[in-house]
Amino acid sequence: MTPMADITLEVFEKEAVDFLDANAEKRPPEKAFVWGEGSESPFGGEERSRDNELKGVELAKAWRQKKFDAGFGWVTGPRSLGGRELPASYDRLYGQLEAQYRVPGQSCFGIGLGMVAPTILAHATELAKELYLKKMWRGDIIGCQLFSEPGAGSDLASLTTKAERDGDEWIITGQKVWTSGAHYSDIGEVICRTDPSLPKHKGLTGFIVDMHDPNIEIRPLKQMNGGTGFNEVFFNEVRVRDDHRLGDVNNGWNVALTTLMNERASIGVNGGGSGGGDKAIFDRIVAMLRHYGLDNDPIVRNELADIWGRYKVASLTNTRAMAKVRAGQTPGPELSIAKMALTANQTRLGAFVSKVLGAKIQADTGEWGTYAWNGLVLGTPGLRIAGGSDEVMRNIVGERVLGLPKDAGIDSNTPFNQMRVN
Ligand SMILES: Cc1cc2nc3c(=O)[nH]c(=O)nc-3n(C[C@H](O)[C@H](O)[C@H](O)COP(=O)(O)OP(=O)(O)OC[C@H]3O[C@@H](n4cnc5c(N)ncnc54)[C@H](O)[C@@H]3O)c2cc1C
Repeated sequence: MTPMADITLEVFEKEAVDFLDANAEKRPPEKAFVWGEGSESPFGGEERSRDNELKGVELAKAWRQKKFDAGFGWVTGPRSLGGRELPASYDRLYGQLEAQYRVPGQSCFGIGLGMVAPTILAHATELAKELYLKKMWRGDIIGCQLFSEPGAGSDLASLTTKAERDGDEWIITGQKVWTSGAHYSDIGEVICRTDPSLPKHKGLTGFIVDMHDPNIEIRPLKQMNGGTGFNEVFFNEVRVRDDHRLGDVNNGWNVALTTLMNERASIGVNGGGSGGGDKAIFDRIVAMLRHYGLDNDPIVRNELADIWGRYKVASLTNTRAMAKVRAGQTPGPELSIAKMALTANQTRLGAFVSKVLGAKIQADTGEWGTYAWNGLVLGTPGLRIAGGSDEVMRNIVGERVLGLPKDAGIDSNTPFNQMRVN
């Protein structure tokens, strides 16, 4: 049901502009890109060291706190839990306004607010909702997603991390992996096996854990692009109170699906409708081709136009999926298609830029604006796995769009729509 607004959109807009004017610097109008000037990185930032990353998290938290206290942090959330209970159109408007200002990047909140918080809202006890939701939306705490394990990724229901009941508590033992942001998170959503005698989708339960618990060990994983964005997380008999359980005992699969559905929606929304093909990237490529005297080469032009066209189609698919999300509908396979298109296009773009730059994209010659592109080549393989691997996405599209026979999966009892899509 759409909440009733106690403030008109016009008054809300004025309040938001006043707040932003008083607290942030307005972005200057974009200048035409000139080769050799400005940031060398096409994507606006290099992989950061953990120290720099933590400084960024502090800035991001400070901005969220300021914005929450001014009434713009949880615009659509229930009033009883600290939100303003306004329709989504108000939140969208605030997002559009904020985008016109320079504010600290908010990506550290993506998983917590995009996936974990909606799951807490849907499945947690009243106590846990009160303890965590306002703090999450105010940026006081950050949440992470502890699903994948060394032996459970696409086939998430095979997970083996166990939770055993001990009176009013549960004892969690096992290992998670690829946990993005675990090192700066305060709470985590973990799915555990609580009854190994039941079929694998039926014996799971979700919990909220304190990431600062001394029995949780977090080890960074070094990526080939130099970053350490995710971690191995070890649970060494971690005690969790039963009031931190998410949903009913052995109903953790439904809890996980809530998170995964929100993940798919947040991938679509984060696509921002651009399908990843921002104009600024193409402006930079055109300037690079001019710089190397390749802008009139018909083969180069043809290839770039082909990639641009593919990005445009992906962008329209994203826009369609986002329209469904905003209308409160569950997007169907559009997000799988959009994700597959994004990764295929990034791969094409990486190959194209590699052809233009040759060895300079792999070995740092010091020449301006060349080696910085290697983030695209080294980052794309991770993108093909995160958010559901290419193969899993193809299964979804094959089965749900093309009506092909269902994939047998690892065991024939695994229906396609229960495959992990994060
Ligand atoms: C950047 C990034 C961030 C991540 N962040 C998180 C996080 O915060 N929290 C978290 O819990 N997890 C996270 N993950 C993990 C991610 O969810 C898993 O990597 C993903 O689900 C795939 O699982 P896997 O790595 O175990 O590969 P597997 O599932 O073992 O797959 C191995 C290969 O087999 C293929 N395959 C598997 N099943 C099928 C099938 N039925 N048909 C055809 N091919 C198949 C896959 O496509 C892949 O090529 C992240 C991953 C990445 C790359």
